Amino acid sequence: MAIIVQKYGGTSVADAEKIKNVARRVAARHDKGDDVVVVVSAMGKTTDQLIDLAYQMSDQPEDREMDVLVSTGETVSSSLMAMALRAMGYPAISLSGAQAGIGTETRYGRARILSIDPKRIHKELKEGKIVIVAGFQGICEEMDITTLGRGGSDTTGVALAVGLKADKCEIYSDVDGIYTTDPRIEPNAQKLKEIGYEEMLELATYGARVMHNRAVELGKVYNMPILVASSTRDVPGTLIHGGTSMVEQRNKVSGIAADSDVAKVTVRGVPDRPGIAASLFGPLSDAGISVDTIVQNASVEKITDLTFTVARNELDKAMRLMEPLAKQIGAGEILSDVSLAKVSIVGAGMQSGPGYAATMFRTLFDSKINIELITTSEIRITCIIDESKVKEAVRALHKAFELEQAE
Ligand code: ADP
Ligand code: ASP
Ligand code: MG
Repeated sequence: MAIIVQKYGGTSVADAEKIKNVARRVAARHDKGDDVVVVVSAMGKTTDQLIDLAYQMSDQPEDREMDVLVSTGETVSSSLMAMALRAMGYPAISLSGAQAGIGTETRYGRARILSIDPKRIHKELKEGKIVIVAGFQGICEEMDITTLGRGGSDTTGVALAVGLKADKCEIYSDVDGIYTTDPRIEPNAQKLKEIGYEEMLELATYGARVMHNRAVELGKVYNMPILVASSTRDVPGTLIHGGTSMVEQRNKVSGIAADSDVAKVTVRGVPDRPGIAASLFGPLSDAGISVDTIVQNASVEKITDLTFTVARNELDKAMRLMEPLAKQIGAGEILSDVSLAKVSIVGAGMQSGPGYAATMFRTLFDSKINIELITTSEIRITCIIDESKVKEAVRALHKAFELEQAE
């Protein structure tokens, strides 16, 4: 008998009626004779509302308490889902992340999963139950509740699929697959039949919120195929995998991602001598702040400007760390800017084909969009631009790289 792991996102369990709908789909799968494990996200905007409440208590709520709070969203939906199934006459049980054996590092707010101990899940499945696991949460060595970062229920799903040796992980959402770009920004976006792990990882990391990037990373490491499909309609979704049948994707841009969660920090007048970058970025990394783009201008008389970007909710922390450090090394003022966004083109074909960067820059120029910073990987080019222009940039690039649906 196959073990099926399905994850349902927040919009798909946003109210009582939607939870019952998902319960009916899960029950139908159980009726086929499969062992079904379901991962659920918090209902609708619950996580945002909980975070908002926390900030009504304190300007800087403690990370540990924040995780205790936000993990409750998934606890609520998992118990309701189990109740809905039981009311339909199906044996179901809800489990917290800890009960499901999801062990994480001790890092609140963005913990990585370190281990899966599926004993309890196996026991419940053996008793014929449908197991509902609260997504997004785990437990660390100190027995504290941790959360996996925004969108982290996808990662719970893939990690459980790996731990339970399922054939694939099914991710059900309000969107029926992975599109060439966010269909809310570009209605002409096309649904992809399949996409490779590497490309999906870049898209997810650079703003395509449809999949949590760590879920894709886990899929890639353990070669676990991930099917992204609709939670309400039976139409073919998108398979994220590492197979070799992706020839048609090879020579073009596969997708465009955008991310408005960008804050820029510029340290002016930095003395250009060995060890300076280490002394600035070491403390940032020690504080768990991930720095994305870093640009150091060419120095004039051994003085340079250093610019980097971080997520907006880490800007205050980054500025508090930078101010004394800048003084210590004899640098000048520190400036910040939160009105920026990233737009990225991603495609495995970029490794071999020339001209992608030129087309991207020309397209942005034609739309009168100024490029502030540029970063690249082998299969991605990212431009940092004004936030107000980001949708326009996505649409223009989608057209320039011929990703629109055929009429
Ligand atoms: P869930 O609640 O199911 O986890 P999310 O809101 O996290 O769903 O992700 C789904 C949303 O991701 C879609 O509604 C869509 O607007 C957005 N999205 C961004 N980029 C893409 C893309 N390339 N393909 C499909 N959806 C995308
Ligand atoms: N509820 C969490 C969030 O809103 C996790 C998830 O939905 O995947 O980020
Ligand atoms: Mg999500």
